[in-house]
Amino acid sequence: MPANKKLLVLPGDGIGPEVMGEVRRVMDWMQVRRAVSFDVQEGLVGGAGIDADGTPCSDATVAAARQADAVLFGSVGGPKWDKLPFEQRPELGILRLRKELGLFANLRPALVLEPLAEASSLRADLVRGLDIMIVRESTGGIYFGEPRGISMNAAGKRVGIDTEVYTEDEIARVARVAFDLARNRRNKVTSVEKANVMQSGRLWRAVVGEVRAAEYPDVELENMYADNCAMQLASRPKQFDVILGSNLFGDLLSDLAAALTGSLGMLPSATLGAVGSDGRRHALYEPIHGSAPDIAGRGIANPCAQILSFAMLLRYSFGMVEDAAAIEGAVERVLASGLRTADIMQPGRARVGTAVMGEAVLRELEKHAS
Ligand code: NAD
Repeated sequence: MPANKKLLVLPGDGIGPEVMGEVRRVMDWMQVRRAVSFDVQEGLVGGAGIDADGTPCSDATVAAARQADAVLFGSVGGPKWDKLPFEQRPELGILRLRKELGLFANLRPALVLEPLAEASSLRADLVRGLDIMIVRESTGGIYFGEPRGISMNAAGKRVGIDTEVYTEDEIARVARVAFDLARNRRNKVTSVEKANVMQSGRLWRAVVGEVRAAEYPDVELENMYADNCAMQLASRPKQFDVILGSNLFGDLLSDLAAALTGSLGMLPSATLGAVGSDGRRHALYEPIHGSAPDIAGRGIANPCAQILSFAMLLRYSFGMVEDAAAIEGAVERVLASGLRTADIMQPGRARVGTAVMGEAVLRELEKHAS
């Protein structure tokens, strides 16, 4: 079978390699049981990259990422590297990859699996069946805009400045990602900004409306102020399908949505680039959790977010929708069977470690494949 799906796997630090190990078992299972073959290259990133090559993301890693059809990322960072100067820290590894690959659209699903509805910060009836996709612009806006910095004003007082800047092209390309996603979901986009007080927000609202009118008249568009969206998410979250926001608002709202789903250890994400002239699109998939140094090396990390990140990769980079759904279904059935890692432990359930959770997912995959 030709290995036509090129994957770069970057486990990173802390629990990264532990949870990635469980994904590798899912990949192995798929190669044996499904008609698919992956060409997998593994690399070092973050603290592991610093220790080996003196940099959190080497040129070779960037080159490999460019060659790959998709990158599966673990997580980076840890106390060992905390004292390094800011510009040498492990976390810069992921920032460099995002920048070099032009990954501008961050997709964060907030999905409440039925067995975990009780683990939400909201009442179970408010979140049962919740399925939101947050699309956050991730290479522009206030985190990158110039001028920025801390300087002294004429009165000798320090002044901190950040600048929110968006061009119409930056807004339009991320809006298209949101509209495309909505078409395969419940066909509704809620675009958030502060058009009432921010000029960039006025432009955001105008451009999203133009893109919709010209290219996606079939998709419902709702404009909402970001502060109202936060309130609505915390009170009536099921009204949303796709939420589209700037780097800043998307960051805040996706963390809020994550809290509704119960656990960091369950949440995957994707970051997509533009579709190139050859039809290829760079993409990186990673759990939203970090390297969890407090539990690293103990075999108790929840591998589900990493496994579900791989499912997203299959869906969005390879169009393997059925395989992605099979993995998601297997994870849900394992939870329904009562197995829990420590982070999602509930009374009356069975506490298990990383490897047992991974094995249970494989068992469920096998059961439904035969
Ligand atoms: P974290 O997400 O690593 O951990 C927060 C808490 O959640 C911890 O108690 C941890 O044990 C728990 N947790 C996280 N993932 C879990 C899992 N899969 N299973 C069970 N429990 C889990 O966030 P933090 O503690 O703020 O950061 C730790 C390190 O990770 C820092 O160096 C930070 O910079 C880095 N970080 C990296 C990324 C990334 O690589 N993209 C993202 C966030 C944080």
